[in-house]
Amino acid sequence: MNGVGLELLQLGNRFAELSASFYHPVTPQPLKNPFLVAFSTDAAALIGLDPCQASAQQLSEYFGGHRLLPGSEPLASVYSGHQFGGYSAQLGDGRAALLGDLPGSDGQRWELQLKGSGKTPYSRHADGRAALRSVIREYLASEALAALGVPTTRALCIIGSETPIYRESIESAATVVRLSPSHIRFGHFEYFYYTRQPEQLKQLADFVIEHHYPHCNESEKPYLAMYSEVVERTAKLMASWQVLGFCHGVMNTDNMSILGLTLDYGPFAFLDEYQPDYICNRSDEHGRYAYRQQPAVAMWNCVCLAQSLTGLVKQTDLEQALNRFEPLYAVAYTEQMKLRLGMSDKAPQDAELIEAFLQLLQQAKADYNAAFLALEQVADGDPEPFTLLLGDNEAVADWLQRYRARIGVNATELMSRHNPRIILRNYLAQQVIGRAEQGDFTDLAQLHAALREPYKEHLEIYSQASPEWGKNLSLSCSS
Ligand code: AMP
Ligand code: MG
Repeated sequence: MNGVGLELLQLGNRFAELSASFYHPVTPQPLKNPFLVAFSTDAAALIGLDPCQASAQQLSEYFGGHRLLPGSEPLASVYSGHQFGGYSAQLGDGRAALLGDLPGSDGQRWELQLKGSGKTPYSRHADGRAALRSVIREYLASEALAALGVPTTRALCIIGSETPIYRESIESAATVVRLSPSHIRFGHFEYFYYTRQPEQLKQLADFVIEHHYPHCNESEKPYLAMYSEVVERTAKLMASWQVLGFCHGVMNTDNMSILGLTLDYGPFAFLDEYQPDYICNRSDEHGRYAYRQQPAVAMWNCVCLAQSLTGLVKQTDLEQALNRFEPLYAVAYTEQMKLRLGMSDKAPQDAELIEAFLQLLQQAKADYNAAFLALEQVADGDPEPFTLLLGDNEAVADWLQRYRARIGVNATELMSRHNPRIILRNYLAQQVIGRAEQGDFTDLAQLHAALREPYKEHLEIYSQASPEWGKNLSLSCSS
């Protein structure tokens, strides 16, 4: 693999071009006895870093808060956001430092953000740290979603340490190096809107357009064009999440990426049984962020963003752009779902066929992802695994008859490219976390290696439903 050594990465910081009201310079605080826990060669390739020229010791020093990369002037940015429907006036990077950005192998610039790097002016009463378990979850999930083709921030590496942190019990602090073309959130716009700083808001919109949506400048209404594209990307992201059964868990506007990426992995989960009302976040008592709510909540979040842009874009234009959310979502959802079902052409009854499939899954409490793999066997001529999972009854038989009549000869080939053989089920993550907390990272590396190639056959347990004890785990926000 081509690339340069860690010490040769030269960082700039475009975000610092924004005025001082956007951020605060910070210094990452050193972790005690840092060590390398995990490293993603895929993420390294994005920034032209040669893994062979990045030793565990160097990585631990640079990303354990002991050294700064050339050119790095870390900062923490301010934002706000709607959390569980209520407005929180001041949030910000409370435990992350933007180290800088650098040109990637794809020509775009990538930001490096160090999460868990210690207190910042936005830490409020918290410690600025992240628990090893939570950075492992973020690392695995972002690399898994990327491999599945879902827009997401990336994770370069995890650094563990002997620094104690106090959560429900004493844990050890760790960092994860997050990569993204931008870490700007809807909440950044909300902050400057609600603090009545129209100049800064405009500066922010101009910055986002210049660096991330430059083609919008060709439009007569660049701010509207940008908003419209954010709506589009967000709607499509929701389609990808729903089709995969991914539940984010904390879809506050401060966790919504202006680039339509999956951002801020907390108590997320992939569906076990198909239960549309499933809530993965233990603190989400009313199910605001339940699986089935995600598209509607994302649209609500787009309304919050629209509100922040009312000084730059006409209300009626914003409304029109927002009105595209639902149809964009519906089309993307049906298209992606059809691929999982092995259907590439169009037929008028497709949406209805999908809906009927989901109803069967729900009635049978069938495992969502395992059902697609069983269906692949139907397409291949063996309906038994499917009827075992869904029941041997008339409704299933009727649906199968319609399904068989609908699919073409290329169905199994299509399905094998769109139905993952491994899903990052929470219990799998919990198991490797348990081992990692004991200092053994081999299972973590093995799971990561499998997640990198989700359409290949792996260990059988990776494609199977969760065992009873590991089903529908709901996690706390504590991280
Ligand atoms: P989250 O729910 O993780 O998206 O976090 C919400 C806000 O709280 C963000 O502004 C975070 O930066 C901040 N935050 C979360 N955990 C910590 C922590 N341990 N120390 C400081 N700030 C935190
Ligand atoms: Mg967050």
